[in-house]
Amino acid sequence: MYTDIVEKIKEFNTIVIARHVGVDPDALCGQLALRDSIKLTFPDKKVLAIGSGSAKFGQIGKLDKTEVVENALLIVVDTPDVKRVDSVDFSQFAYKIKIDHHPFVEKYCDMELIEDEACSACEILMRLILNTDLKCNKEIAEKLYMGLVSDSNRFLFNSCTSETFALVSKFVGDYALDLGSMYQRLYLRPLSEVRLEGYISSNMVVTENGLAYIKITDQIINEYEVDSAAAGNMVNNYNYIKEVIVWATITEDVKNKQIRVSIRSRGPQINLLAEKYGGGGHKMASGAKLKTFDEAMKLMKELDLLVKEYKESCEAV
Ligand code: AMP
Repeated sequence: MYTDIVEKIKEFNTIVIARHVGVDPDALCGQLALRDSIKLTFPDKKVLAIGSGSAKFGQIGKLDKTEVVENALLIVVDTPDVKRVDSVDFSQFAYKIKIDHHPFVEKYCDMELIEDEACSACEILMRLILNTDLKCNKEIAEKLYMGLVSDSNRFLFNSCTSETFALVSKFVGDYALDLGSMYQRLYLRPLSEVRLEGYISSNMVVTENGLAYIKITDQIINEYEVDSAAAGNMVNNYNYIKEVIVWATITEDVKNKQIRVSIRSRGPQINLLAEKYGGGGHKMASGAKLKTFDEAMKLMKELDLLVKEYKESCEAV
Protein backbone atom coordinates (compact mmCIF):
# COMPACT_ATOMS: atom_id res chain seq x y z
CA MET A 1 0.00 0.00 0.00
CA TYR A 2 3.00 2.34 0.47
CA THR A 3 3.37 2.83 -3.28
CA ASP A 4 -0.42 3.25 -3.70
CA ILE A 5 -0.26 6.12 -1.21
CA VAL A 6 2.54 7.84 -3.12
CA GLU A 7 0.69 7.29 -6.43
CA LYS A 8 -2.31 9.13 -4.94
CA ILE A 9 -0.02 11.91 -3.69
CA LYS A 10 1.30 12.29 -7.26
CA GLU A 11 -2.28 12.69 -8.56
CA PHE A 12 -3.12 15.77 -6.46
CA ASN A 13 -1.69 19.29 -6.49
CA THR A 14 -3.15 20.18 -3.10
CA ILE A 15 -2.73 17.92 -0.10
CA VAL A 16 -3.92 18.52 3.46
CA ILE A 17 -2.54 16.51 6.36
CA ALA A 18 -4.62 16.28 9.52
CA ARG A 19 -4.57 14.31 12.80
CA HIS A 20 -6.47 13.85 16.03
CA VAL A 21 -7.74 16.44 18.50
CA GLY A 22 -5.69 16.81 21.68
CA VAL A 23 -2.44 17.05 19.76
CA ASP A 24 0.49 14.92 20.93
CA PRO A 25 4.06 14.71 19.61
CA ASP A 26 3.51 11.56 17.51
CA ALA A 27 0.54 13.03 15.66
CA LEU A 28 2.15 16.46 15.28
CA CYS A 29 5.59 15.19 14.24
CA GLY A 30 3.94 12.71 11.88
CA GLN A 31 1.88 15.28 10.03
CA LEU A 32 4.75 17.80 9.84
CA ALA A 33 7.26 15.16 8.67
CA LEU A 34 4.88 13.88 6.00
CA ARG A 35 4.13 17.44 4.84
CA ASP A 36 7.82 18.30 4.58
CA SER A 37 8.69 15.03 2.87
CA ILE A 38 6.00 15.55 0.21
CA LYS A 39 7.15 19.17 -0.30
CA LEU A 40 10.76 18.07 -0.62
CA THR A 41 9.85 15.37 -3.14
CA PHE A 42 7.28 17.40 -5.11
CA PRO A 43 8.21 21.10 -4.66
CA ASP A 44 5.31 22.34 -6.84
CA LYS A 45 2.59 20.84 -4.70
CA LYS A 46 0.72 22.80 -2.06
CA VAL A 47 0.85 20.81 1.18
CA LEU A 48 -0.73 21.95 4.44
CA ALA A 49 -0.51 20.40 7.91
CA ILE A 50 -3.54 21.57 9.88
CA GLY A 51 -5.18 21.35 13.32
CA SER A 52 -5.10 23.15 16.65
CA GLY A 53 -1.58 23.71 17.88
CA SER A 54 -0.20 23.68 21.39
CA ALA A 55 2.32 26.10 22.87
CA LYS A 56 3.93 23.15 24.66
CA PHE A 57 5.02 21.62 21.37
CA GLY A 58 5.99 24.92 19.71
CA GLN A 59 9.63 23.78 19.53
CA ILE A 60 8.71 20.86 17.30
CA GLY A 61 7.48 22.80 14.27
CA LYS A 62 4.84 25.06 12.78
CA LEU A 63 1.42 24.11 11.54
CA ASP A 64 -0.34 25.79 8.60
CA LYS A 65 -3.55 27.79 8.64
CA THR A 66 -6.65 25.89 7.56
CA GLU A 67 -7.73 27.03 4.08
CA VAL A 68 -10.62 26.33 1.79
CA VAL A 69 -9.28 23.89 -0.80
CA GLU A 70 -10.66 22.28 -3.94
CA ASN A 71 -10.03 18.91 -5.54
CA ALA A 72 -7.60 18.09 -2.77
CA LEU A 73 -6.24 14.96 -1.14
CA LEU A 74 -6.70 14.54 2.61
CA ILE A 75 -4.30 12.39 4.62
CA VAL A 76 -5.21 11.79 8.26
CA VAL A 77 -2.49 10.40 10.49
CA ASP A 78 -2.78 8.72 13.90
CA THR A 79 -6.59 8.86 14.15
CA PRO A 80 -8.78 5.74 14.16
CA ASP A 81 -12.22 7.36 14.13
CA VAL A 82 -13.76 10.29 12.34
CA LYS A 83 -15.05 12.02 15.49
CA ARG A 84 -11.48 12.60 16.69
CA VAL A 85 -10.18 14.20 13.49
CA ASP A 86 -9.21 17.82 14.23
CA SER A 87 -10.50 20.74 12.10
CA VAL A 88 -11.42 18.96 8.85
CA ASP A 89 -14.37 19.60 6.53
CA PHE A 90 -14.51 16.21 4.81
CA SER A 91 -16.75 17.51 2.01
CA GLN A 92 -13.82 19.48 0.55
CA PHE A 93 -11.76 16.43 -0.37
CA ALA A 94 -11.77 14.35 -3.52
CA TYR A 95 -9.88 11.47 -1.92
CA LYS A 96 -9.00 10.52 1.66
CA ILE A 97 -6.22 8.38 3.11
CA LYS A 98 -5.77 7.22 6.71
CA ILE A 99 -2.36 6.23 8.12
CA ASP A 100 -2.73 4.91 11.66
CA HIS A 101 -1.34 2.63 14.34
CA HIS A 102 -4.41 2.45 16.62
CA PRO A 103 -6.57 -0.68 16.74
CA PHE A 104 -9.21 -0.39 13.98
CA VAL A 105 -12.34 1.51 15.01
CA GLU A 106 -14.06 2.48 11.74
CA LYS A 107 -13.37 3.02 8.06
CA TYR A 108 -13.74 6.68 7.11
CA CYS A 109 -11.21 7.07 4.29
CA ASP A 110 -10.99 5.66 0.77
CA MET A 111 -7.61 4.07 1.47
CA GLU A 112 -6.53 3.02 4.97
CA LEU A 113 -3.04 1.96 5.97
CA ILE A 114 -3.39 0.52 9.47
CA GLU A 115 -0.41 -1.07 11.18
CA ASP A 116 -1.65 -1.49 14.72
CA GLU A 117 1.47 -3.34 15.81
CA ALA A 118 3.59 -0.24 15.14
CA CYS A 119 4.72 1.68 18.24
CA SER A 120 3.79 5.02 16.68
CA ALA A 121 2.40 6.70 13.59
CA CYS A 122 5.93 7.96 12.95
CA GLU A 123 7.22 4.38 12.74
CA ILE A 124 4.77 3.74 9.87
CA LEU A 125 5.86 6.98 8.20
CA MET A 126 9.51 5.91 8.47
CA ARG A 127 8.59 2.71 6.62
CA LEU A 128 6.57 4.70 4.06
CA ILE A 129 9.53 6.96 3.31
CA LEU A 130 12.07 4.13 3.17
CA ASN A 131 9.91 2.05 0.83
CA THR A 132 8.93 4.74 -1.68
CA ASP A 133 10.33 7.71 -3.62
CA LEU A 134 9.45 10.10 -0.78
CA LYS A 135 12.53 12.09 0.19
CA CYS A 136 13.85 12.78 3.66
CA ASN A 137 16.30 15.23 5.24
CA LYS A 138 17.65 15.83 8.73
CA GLU A 139 14.69 17.97 9.89
CA ILE A 140 12.18 15.37 8.68
CA ALA A 141 14.17 12.53 10.27
CA GLU A 142 14.27 14.47 13.55
CA LYS A 143 10.50 14.83 13.61
CA LEU A 144 9.98 11.15 12.87
CA TYR A 145 12.39 10.21 15.65
CA MET A 146 10.76 12.56 18.18
CA GLY A 147 7.27 11.25 17.40
CA LEU A 148 8.40 7.64 17.73
CA VAL A 149 10.29 8.24 20.97
CA SER A 150 7.37 10.09 22.48
CA ASP A 151 4.63 7.57 21.63
CA SER A 152 6.72 4.58 22.69
CA ASN A 153 7.43 6.44 25.96
CA ARG A 154 11.16 6.26 25.22
CA PHE A 155 11.07 2.63 24.00
CA LEU A 156 9.33 1.42 27.17
CA PHE A 157 6.40 -0.29 25.45
CA ASN A 158 6.24 -3.83 24.09
CA SER A 159 5.17 -2.38 20.76
CA CYS A 160 8.88 -1.63 20.17
CA THR A 161 10.33 -4.45 18.11
CA SER A 162 13.67 -5.23 16.52
CA GLU A 163 12.30 -3.50 13.41
CA THR A 164 11.61 -0.35 15.43
CA PHE A 165 15.25 -0.29 16.51
CA ALA A 166 16.45 -1.04 12.99
CA LEU A 167 14.40 1.90 11.64
CA VAL A 168 15.60 4.21 14.39
CA SER A 169 19.19 3.11 13.83
CA LYS A 170 18.89 3.87 10.12
CA PHE A 171 17.39 7.34 10.57
CA VAL A 172 19.70 8.31 13.44
CA GLY A 173 22.73 7.08 11.49
CA ASP A 174 21.85 8.34 8.00
CA TYR A 175 20.96 11.85 9.19
CA ALA A 176 23.45 12.12 12.08
CA LEU A 177 20.66 13.03 14.52
CA ASP A 178 21.65 14.81 17.71
CA LEU A 179 19.61 13.03 20.40
CA GLY A 180 20.32 15.60 23.13
CA SER A 181 18.84 18.50 21.19
CA MET A 182 15.72 16.50 20.33
CA TYR A 183 15.18 15.45 23.95
CA GLN A 184 15.46 19.13 25.00
CA ARG A 185 12.70 20.00 22.54
CA LEU A 186 10.51 17.12 23.71
CA TYR A 187 11.10 16.94 27.43
CA LEU A 188 12.31 20.27 28.83
CA ARG A 189 9.63 21.34 31.32
CA PRO A 190 9.10 23.95 34.01
CA LEU A 191 9.79 23.22 37.66
CA SER A 192 6.07 23.70 38.40
CA GLU A 193 5.32 20.49 36.48
CA VAL A 194 7.94 18.54 38.43
CA ARG A 195 6.41 19.81 41.66
CA LEU A 196 2.99 18.59 40.48
CA GLU A 197 4.55 15.20 39.72
CA GLY A 198 5.61 15.14 43.37
CA TYR A 199 2.04 15.94 44.44
CA ILE A 200 0.69 13.12 42.29
CA SER A 201 3.22 10.61 43.66
CA SER A 202 2.33 11.54 47.24
CA ASN A 203 -1.43 11.65 46.79
CA MET A 204 -2.38 8.96 44.27
CA VAL A 205 -4.87 6.42 45.60
CA VAL A 206 -3.63 2.85 45.20
CA THR A 207 -6.20 0.08 45.59
CA GLU A 208 -5.54 -3.38 46.97
CA ASN A 209 -5.87 -4.75 43.44
CA GLY A 210 -3.22 -2.46 41.97
CA LEU A 211 -5.14 0.43 40.40
CA ALA A 212 -3.64 3.87 41.04
CA TYR A 213 -5.52 7.04 40.28
CA ILE A 214 -5.35 10.72 41.09
CA LYS A 215 -7.95 13.46 40.76
CA ILE A 216 -6.31 16.65 39.54
CA THR A 217 -8.86 19.37 40.18
CA ASP A 218 -8.80 22.86 38.71
CA GLN A 219 -7.79 24.11 42.16
CA ILE A 220 -4.68 21.91 42.13
CA ILE A 221 -3.89 22.93 38.55
CA ASN A 222 -4.00 26.60 39.57
CA GLU A 223 -2.10 26.02 42.79
CA TYR A 224 0.78 24.36 40.92
CA GLU A 225 0.56 26.83 38.01
CA VAL A 226 0.46 24.18 35.30
CA ASP A 227 -2.04 23.75 32.48
CA SER A 228 -4.63 21.03 32.37
CA ALA A 229 -3.11 19.27 29.32
CA ALA A 230 0.33 19.07 30.95
CA ALA A 231 -1.23 17.72 34.15
CA GLY A 232 -3.09 14.95 32.28
CA ASN A 233 0.01 13.97 30.31
CA MET A 234 1.82 13.17 33.54
CA VAL A 235 0.13 9.77 33.43
CA ASN A 236 3.15 8.69 31.37
CA ASN A 237 5.49 9.07 34.35
CA TYR A 238 4.14 6.31 36.59
CA ASN A 239 5.08 3.06 34.85
CA TYR A 240 6.89 0.21 36.58
CA ILE A 241 5.66 0.77 40.12
CA LYS A 242 5.58 -2.62 41.87
CA GLU A 243 2.19 -2.12 43.51
CA VAL A 244 0.55 -0.58 40.43
CA ILE A 245 -0.72 -2.51 37.39
CA VAL A 246 -3.08 0.11 35.92
CA TRP A 247 -2.93 3.82 36.60
CA ALA A 248 -4.94 6.88 35.63
CA THR A 249 -4.99 10.64 35.87
CA ILE A 250 -8.41 12.29 36.17
CA THR A 251 -7.94 15.91 35.19
CA GLU A 252 -10.45 18.73 35.35
CA ASP A 253 -10.43 20.87 32.20
CA VAL A 254 -12.58 23.87 33.06
CA LYS A 255 -12.04 25.60 29.71
CA ASN A 256 -13.46 22.68 27.76
CA LYS A 257 -15.95 21.74 30.50
CA GLN A 258 -14.73 18.17 30.69
CA ILE A 259 -12.91 15.65 32.84
CA ARG A 260 -10.05 14.07 30.92
CA VAL A 261 -9.21 10.54 31.99
CA SER A 262 -5.87 9.11 30.84
CA ILE A 263 -5.22 5.46 31.58
CA ARG A 264 -2.11 3.30 31.25
CA SER A 265 -1.64 -0.41 31.91
CA ARG A 266 1.14 -2.92 32.20
CA GLY A 267 -1.38 -5.77 32.60
CA PRO A 268 -4.93 -5.96 31.30
CA GLN A 269 -6.18 -4.49 28.03
CA ILE A 270 -7.95 -1.21 28.86
CA ASN A 271 -9.14 0.29 25.56
CA LEU A 272 -12.46 -1.61 25.46
CA LEU A 273 -13.44 -0.20 28.85
CA ALA A 274 -12.37 3.28 27.71
CA GLU A 275 -14.60 2.80 24.64
CA LYS A 276 -17.53 1.92 26.92
CA TYR A 277 -17.12 5.42 28.38
CA GLY A 278 -17.02 7.08 24.95
CA GLY A 279 -13.23 7.09 24.70
CA GLY A 280 -10.73 4.68 23.21
CA GLY A 281 -7.07 4.29 22.37
CA HIS A 282 -4.49 1.52 22.47
CA LYS A 283 -4.62 -1.75 24.42
CA MET A 284 -2.26 -0.37 27.08
CA ALA A 285 -2.75 3.42 26.70
CA SER A 286 -6.26 4.80 26.50
CA GLY A 287 -8.29 7.82 27.39
CA ALA A 288 -11.79 9.25 27.63
CA LYS A 289 -13.40 12.63 28.05
CA LEU A 290 -16.15 12.61 30.66
CA LYS A 291 -18.53 15.17 32.09
CA THR A 292 -18.14 14.66 35.85
CA PHE A 293 -15.79 13.29 38.50
CA ASP A 294 -18.61 10.90 39.52
CA GLU A 295 -18.55 9.35 36.07
CA ALA A 296 -14.76 9.08 36.32
CA MET A 297 -15.07 7.27 39.65
CA LYS A 298 -17.47 4.76 38.06
CA LEU A 299 -14.82 4.13 35.44
CA MET A 300 -12.22 3.68 38.20
CA LYS A 301 -14.46 1.07 39.89
CA GLU A 302 -14.71 -0.89 36.66
CA LEU A 303 -10.97 -0.53 36.05
CA ASP A 304 -10.28 -1.83 39.54
CA LEU A 305 -12.38 -4.92 38.80
CA LEU A 306 -10.50 -5.39 35.54
CA VAL A 307 -7.17 -5.35 37.40
CA LYS A 308 -8.57 -7.78 39.99
CA GLU A 309 -9.67 -10.22 37.27
CA TYR A 310 -6.32 -9.85 35.53
CA LYS A 311 -4.41 -10.64 38.71
CA GLU A 312 -6.63 -13.65 39.42
CA SER A 313 -6.13 -14.95 35.89
CA CYS A 314 -2.35 -14.62 36.32
CA GLU A 315 -2.47 -16.47 39.63
CA ALA A 316 -4.54 -19.29 38.08
CA VAL A 317 -1.79 -20.05 35.52
P1 AMP B 1 -4.00 10.16 26.41
O1 AMP B 1 -4.15 9.46 27.70
O2 AMP B 1 -4.88 11.34 26.24
O3 AMP B 1 -2.57 10.42 26.10
O4 AMP B 1 -4.49 9.14 25.29
C1 AMP B 1 -3.96 7.84 25.17
C2 AMP B 1 -4.55 7.19 23.94
O5 AMP B 1 -5.96 7.11 24.06
C3 AMP B 1 -4.26 7.92 22.65
O6 AMP B 1 -3.98 6.95 21.67
C4 AMP B 1 -5.52 8.62 22.31
O7 AMP B 1 -5.69 8.67 20.92
C5 AMP B 1 -6.59 7.76 22.96
N1 AMP B 1 -7.67 8.61 23.50
C6 AMP B 1 -7.54 9.54 24.46
N2 AMP B 1 -8.73 10.15 24.68
C7 AMP B 1 -9.61 9.60 23.84
C8 AMP B 1 -11.00 9.80 23.56
N3 AMP B 1 -11.73 10.72 24.20
N4 AMP B 1 -11.57 9.04 22.61
C9 AMP B 1 -10.86 8.10 21.94
N5 AMP B 1 -9.56 7.85 22.16
C10 AMP B 1 -8.93 8.58 23.09
